Amino acid sequence: MFNPVSFRRIVEVWNAGQHLTEMRATLSDMEETLGLQGELLHDVPVAKVFANGEYRDTWDARWAEGHGVCQWASLGEDIAGAQLPHVQGPAGVGKVHAAGWVDVPALLQAMEAHFEVHHNVEHQTWNVDDGLPSGADALVDCRGVGAADELSEVGVQIHPNHGDVLTLSTPLEGPHALDSGGHTINNGKWLLPTHQHAGRQHWRLGATYAWHKTKASPDGHAADELRKHMSKVWDGASREAWGNAQLEKHEAGLRPASPDRRPMVGPWPGQPKGVLMLNGLGTRGVLVGPSAALALVRWWMDGVPIPEEMDLSRFKAVRERFQD
Ligand SMILES: Cc1cc2nc3c(=O)[nH]c(=O)nc-3n(C[C@H](O)[C@H](O)[C@H](O)COP(=O)(O)OP(=O)(O)OC[C@H]3O[C@@H](n4cnc5c(N)ncnc54)[C@H](O)[C@@H]3O)c2cc1C
Repeated sequence: MFNPVSFRRIVEVWNAGQHLTEMRATLSDMEETLGLQGELLHDVPVAKVFANGEYRDTWDARWAEGHGVCQWASLGEDIAGAQLPHVQGPAGVGKVHAAGWVDVPALLQAMEAHFEVHHNVEHQTWNVDDGLPSGADALVDCRGVGAADELSEVGVQIHPNHGDVLTLSTPLEGPHALDSGGHTINNGKWLLPTHQHAGRQHWRLGATYAWHKTKASPDGHAADELRKHMSKVWDGASREAWGNAQLEKHEAGLRPASPDRRPMVGPWPGQPKGVLMLNGLGTRGVLVGPSAALALVRWWMDGVPIPEEMDLSRFKAVRERFQD
């Protein structure tokens, strides 16, 4: 999912405009190259269900302030007119039109097939000691939390943040059908309508955040909590439909979070020329990944300086160890 609005503080997320533009351009190029036009990036507005009147006042005040966040969202609305017939929201809702989701599994599958035909794909592990493979000009380490131990030895911190996400399905017709009016619903957790398949609507429900879990295994308790939390959003009949939603999949992963929540892009500290890295995408790989990759490529190919916020030399521990 991508969403340029932080609901905690009702502000734009970091560099929202640039990252949205670069994400869209990158995915549009990839859709074309891979023959998947219109299949990877899906625009789906978010309906943020306000927790209370105070939150709505803060939301609406952004328009009086002329705040940048207003370009991605709209003024609060009462639930009655918001095309969310089965959602409960006494304090109203605010919509973010510039949000949606990217079919990352389809993208990875198509890229792998493309590289198998046009280039070469090998599956193998890599660690820093392996260095630059023979014949390669560059290697980009994108191991996420898999690189955490080695990075900590050179002063770069990657903190694993565990998360669970569920895939559920409901029938498209009948008393157990569920309708979000084409919106992703956010009531603190997310419910995103994705594909329709074999007479059923598929949904992604997420996510949890835990710092103390270091293995990417699904947590049954977290799944119950997610379902329970989202049941509060539905009115009577739809709550019953929600209770009958079928669990299709329960997945979990470790988000590679950096201390300042910005990516880490550039040369691998202390390694030979050509050993590069892209890490620290944290909770926002979809929105930030394309810009981070562009920054890396522009620097490597054209000598364009890496933006300071992504450059590893912003970390004192790295500067102290690897002064030029
Ligand atoms: C539950 C959950 C929900 C999320 N929802 C969203 C969302 O809606 N939108 C969003 O933008 N982001 C979301 N994220 C965050 C997103 O998943 C990350 O930002 C993204 O996956 C980071 O991408 P990455 O490629 O840098 O790292 P990863 O996705 O972690 O990939 C690292 C890869 O490196 C491999 N690897 C590790 N060690 C080695 C080694 N030694 N040799 C070879 N390979 C190795 C791993 O197997 C893995 O395939 C979510 C994360 C979780 C856990």
